[in-house]
Amino acid sequence: MERWDAVVVGGGFYGLYLAEQLAARLRRVLLCEAGPALMARASYANQARVHNGYHYPRSVLTAVRSRVNFPRFVAEFRPAVDATFEKLYAVARRGSKVTAGQFAEAMRRIGAPVEPADAATAGQFAEAMRRIGAPVEPADAAQVRLFDRDLIEDVFRVREYAFDSVRLCDAMAERVRRAGVTVRLNTPVERVWSLSGGAVRVRAAGAELVAGLALCCSYAQTNAVAAASGLPVIPLKHELAEMALVELPDALKGLGVTVVDGPFFSCMPFPPRGLHTLSHVRYTPHGHWYDGDATHRPAYEVFAAADHTTAFPHMARDAARYLPALARCEYRDSLWEVKTVLPRSEADDSRPILFRPDHGIPNYHVVMGGKIDNVYDVAEELAKRLDATQTPTREAA
Ligand SMILES: Cc1cc2nc3c(=O)[nH]c(=O)nc-3n(C[C@H](O)[C@H](O)[C@H](O)COP(=O)(O)OP(=O)(O)OC[C@H]3O[C@@H](n4cnc5c(N)ncnc54)[C@H](O)[C@@H]3O)c2cc1C
Repeated sequence: MERWDAVVVGGGFYGLYLAEQLAARLRRVLLCEAGPALMARASYANQARVHNGYHYPRSVLTAVRSRVNFPRFVAEFRPAVDATFEKLYAVARRGSKVTAGQFAEAMRRIGAPVEPADAATAGQFAEAMRRIGAPVEPADAAQVRLFDRDLIEDVFRVREYAFDSVRLCDAMAERVRRAGVTVRLNTPVERVWSLSGGAVRVRAAGAELVAGLALCCSYAQTNAVAAASGLPVIPLKHELAEMALVELPDALKGLGVTVVDGPFFSCMPFPPRGLHTLSHVRYTPHGHWYDGDATHRPAYEVFAAADHTTAFPHMARDAARYLPALARCEYRDSLWEVKTVLPRSEADDSRPILFRPDHGIPNYHVVMGGKIDNVYDVAEELAKRLDATQTPTREAA
């Protein structure tokens, strides 16, 4: 049987990033990816937002962690970051869970720069910004005129970027190669067992191997290996998510727009395709289900069996009420993926990380981050764990 110091399950952004971290400490690290390519699932099919806190006015912790991780991610992955567009956050007058004032106040508390995009409210926000020492630029009334002001209370210009998942994948593939990680594609991990002395037996693509530790980074499939191994299933909520890929009309080119905080929409650049994603809180989810011990079914199976008829006409029709120029966007395609969150995120739309060391058996660790930049928080927890268990360093091994 092959012996490895660590086996990482899943070749998404998390698996790649954490495999590199492990390879800094351990000599023999193997990454098993079930599919034929790296970063081809949620790490590709997502809204590509590099979060800076604005999206989470109801969850201070997630907003603050986003603020902390944003500059780090942008610096570390600069060639994969698209900062060439202007990002607007608009607060709806009706149906929103926050008012424009609450949004601005929540952002002020976490130190996220919010600039007035509305000449009519510029004075008010200039004053708020002056109080926290944030630079205030002249308001752009033309951007505000894009919105239906009967439905939109206020519009803010913010600093939020998009990432190019293909470039991110190229960067991470090169980094794990340099770190000496062995990558195997088309290699699904099927089961894990505990061995004496704390080692983990792993069955991957029908072959068995032994690892000092196994780290599960399979996101929507987080519970699949655990369930097949008779280990506890972690409560998770899955959504079958569709994001339409659209060509924006000239009036909206160079912009990203998010209307918060309720059943509204987001339109973000999707750099790998040179298009924008259009998502809608009401129409992007085509259904949801929960993982539970009695009910567990691998999420990719549910996904594959589901109906993939686009809801783009509904998304566009409703979004155009707030941003009329969207009525002229042209549908090109859709990205479909399973979106997985912890059930407790339902209340406040937060994105806490999942870190379950020794999940069911010693040295089988399970992680999941609800967004790309959460990887820093997961990496920190993993490092603490490895320090605490005195995993030998690469040099000492
Ligand atoms: C619709 C949607 C929109 C999103 N928008 C954003 C956003 O704007 N910004 C943001 O930061 N985050 C966003 N996210 C969240 C983000 O995509 C995820 O947090 C992130 O991609 C998770 O990375 P991962 O590596 O854990 O998962 P994945 O990229 O899904 O990687 C998991 C990998 O594990 C593999 N795998 C599964 N089972 C096995 C097995 N048994 N053996 C071996 N391999 C296996 C899969 O094939 C896959 O490649 C969004 C997610 C979705 C779905």
